[in-house]
This record gives sequence, C-alpha cells and structure tokens, in this order.
Amino acid sequence: MSKKYITAGLEPEKVLNSFEDICRIPHGSYHTQMISDWLRDFAVKRNLRHIQDEAGNVIMFKDGTKGHENAEPLMLQGHMDMVLEKNSDNPIDMEKEAITLMIDGDNLKADGTTLGGDDGIAVAMMLALLDSEDIVHPPLECVFTVDEEVGMLGMEALDPSPLRSKRMLNLDSEQEGVFTAGCAGGAEEELTLHVERKPQYGIQLQIEVSGLLGGHSGESIDRGRANADLVLARILYKLYKKVPFYLISINGGSKDNAIPREASALVIFPAGSDRELAAKTIEKHAAFAAAEYQQADPEMRCTCTWMEDRDLAAAAMTKKYTKRVLKLLLSLPNGLMETDQVSRTPQTSLNLGILKTDTDTVTIVFLVRSSINSQKKFLCDRLEIIADAYDAEIRTVSAYPAWEYAHHSEFRDTLAGIYEKKTGKKPVISVTHGGLECGLLAAKMDGLDCLSIGPDMEGIHTPSEKLSISSVRRCWEFLLAALEALA
Ligand SMILES: [Zn+2]
Repeated sequence: MSKKYITAGLEPEKVLNSFEDICRIPHGSYHTQMISDWLRDFAVKRNLRHIQDEAGNVIMFKDGTKGHENAEPLMLQGHMDMVLEKNSDNPIDMEKEAITLMIDGDNLKADGTTLGGDDGIAVAMMLALLDSEDIVHPPLECVFTVDEEVGMLGMEALDPSPLRSKRMLNLDSEQEGVFTAGCAGGAEEELTLHVERKPQYGIQLQIEVSGLLGGHSGESIDRGRANADLVLARILYKLYKKVPFYLISINGGSKDNAIPREASALVIFPAGSDRELAAKTIEKHAAFAAAEYQQADPEMRCTCTWMEDRDLAAAAMTKKYTKRVLKLLLSLPNGLMETDQVSRTPQTSLNLGILKTDTDTVTIVFLVRSSINSQKKFLCDRLEIIADAYDAEIRTVSAYPAWEYAHHSEFRDTLAGIYEKKTGKKPVISVTHGGLECGLLAAKMDGLDCLSIGPDMEGIHTPSEKLSISSVRRCWEFLLAALEALA
C-alpha cells in the first residue's frame, strides 16, 4: 500500500511529501542514528555517491545535469536533528514516537509538539533535488549534519576534505526574503560552586517565580524580558538581609539558550524567625520586580508556600555558602551587553539559562553570544574573573565561532540579483544573533562564500512551531531559479 500524505496535492508536492517522510522518523538531537541511516539508504537506493561519517553526518553528491557537469559545484546544507519540545499534557515519547502533522490554513504544524520545520524543511528540499531528474543544477554537494541544536556537534566533527565547493547555501534561516549573511558565535560556560551543608532545624519555605515569557536567547535577548533565576536571587538576597535563612536549593531553567521562565528555591528559617516579616519582605521585592518588568513580562508571579509538615531537620547550606550563592548570582552579568551601531541589532549578550543545585554544588550555565569573536572572549573573561572571586570553577562546555559578515560576497550579490528579478524586491541582508553552522564550516574551508535562507517559520523550538506552506513554495521556486543560474 502506498503511503498517504496529508500534503498530497499541495505544492511543492515532492518537498512536502519528503518533509512528511522525515516527520515519521523520530529525530531529536542526540537521537539521530535512525534518520542518518535513512538518509544513507536514500543515497544507496539512488546510486548517489555519499559519505556517512562516524558522528552520523551524511554528505550526498550529485553530478550536474546534462550540459552542466563542469559548472562550479554548489554546497547545500542543513541539519537533520530537531528540538524535542511538547506540551506538558501530551503523553508522546518524542524520542521513540513520530509526531502528528496537521495542516492549519497555510501552515504545517504538529499536534502539541515541535514540528521540526527547523531544519527538516532543508533536508526535504535537498532530498527533492537529489531525487529529481528534470531540475537544472550544477554539481551538488548536500551536507546533512547531526546535533546542530546542542552545540553544532555534527558540524564540529565534519571532515571537509571531500568537499570541493567554494559556495555554500545554508537552509537554516526562518524568514522569507531575508538573506542571512553572518551570525553570532557562542560559548556555553559552566560555573560550579562547591557548597557545604549542615543539618538545620526550623520551618521551610518554598518560593517560586513563574509566569515569565522566556524565549530563545538568540531571538529574544533584546526584548527586556526578566530572567526567573535572577529575579528569585534578588528577592532572596533582600530576604536574607531582613530574616536570615539557610538555603537548601535554588533551581530554574534547563537549556543554556532559553531564558528561564520559572525558578524556585527552598529555604529553612531557624526556629523563632519572624515569618510575617519574611512574607512581607518577599512581597515587597516581588512587587518591585513585577513593576519593573510590567511591559516586557506582565504575567510575572511570585508565590510562597510554607512547608508546615516539614518542620524538621534539613541538610541546608551553611550561612557562608548561602550568602556566597546569592552574592555570586547577583554579581554575574546577564542579558544584552552591546548593540551593533549600524543595524541596531544585538551584538553581544549572555543568558543565564540553567541554575541547578546538587548535594555539594550549585551549577550555573550561560550561553554567551557575540558576532565579534573578541567581544565574546572578553565576556568569558569577565565570567572567569567573577567565578574566581567566589572560588567557583568555570569551564567552556562547547563553543562555535562567529560567522563574521563579509563586506564583499559575489555569491550573495548573484543570489540577491536572482531574488530581485524573481520577486521585484531586494532581499533584506541581515546578521543574526542566533547560531548557524556557516561560521564553523567557513573556519574549516578557506574562502568559502556562504549565505543562509529559509521559508517563514514561527515559534521554533516550541510546541507552537509553524511552517508556512506558501512560503516553502516561494523559497523552493527561488532555489530552482538560483540553481539554474549557477549551473
Ligand atoms: Zn536550525
């Protein structure tokens, strides 16, 4: 029986059907073996020269169409992994089960999960090209990487020596009509503070900050939104000064590149502490924070729960370490640091994305971003100095270089000309604060001329992710025109 496609009859049918095939295979970051093997089998079936490396990256080669065999080769590139996010009431196991696709007007979306349009649509477009017989194109080198979303691990491992292209079109952008011509570099920095605990007696209080908007730190760091971890830390600092306590735990956020939306702390007050004053102090400083972020984060809440049933001993951090944790958190820089003076877009930022307490440690993880490599390094130095001052350890978990904007790019000019001819409009040339694999690859291949495009998407990395079908069609038609012109 032939497979049924919900996109049957929609254009570009081959691309959309191929996207549906990809959605049938679970392909979250770190779980890409299945899709990597499926891509390899695709190449085997079509007799395409291909490489599957140890990391799971796949490269497929296709000769230029008849009469264009000797044209300059073109590299196309996208990542095969996707971010797995679902609504909390959805029972799906996304590591093992396929997502459910739906059509909603002009949009493709998934039922209560991420869709993986980022970057499955790039994979689908490349497969449609590789499968075609009637599309005019130069020799193609299609690169499918793994684990882009977790620090570009696939691209980092990729051996570029089999690649001959001097031009590369990355298909991992999310706005039609925008040519991305540069991106920020990133560094994941992890601070670890050792803490000591002793049994303490008293009453426990749980304090929670929630209702924040959060967002992807490459996209939203300049929107002035609050960071739940830091709002909580400052309330706790003021509380400590009025009614001292022992900190048991403080946690918030689970991804370095997401602004934490919720944070919670558990503390214990010695017997006889003034509970009323404690509650008032929290309320007062939570109100200050709520007022400050009224515009950017109108739903911020702070709630307190007294643990009446837990009037027992707890292994809590000593006074010295309770203070050290709070002071360290309040000393750390966070958010937008520098803005590009020409484009007025974020240039340098850092996001405190993960705060986690274990028995002997408190861990704080940042994602530092900058489109200027030296500024990124400077900010990492500042973190190191602060870590040092508080006797914390710091290490760089992963890093990728900025893809610095090239003032002259023949490839970009050629594609901009084709775009204008086709649409009557000039493309917007932009540098993104998010991360793209172009910088890593350009660092490995001297003189590689790169550009990144993609169809309209919304809400990537969230269960409300949407992919515009009509935008996929226009993006595909532009790609076909570009291939013909470059052949
Ligand atoms: Zn992506």
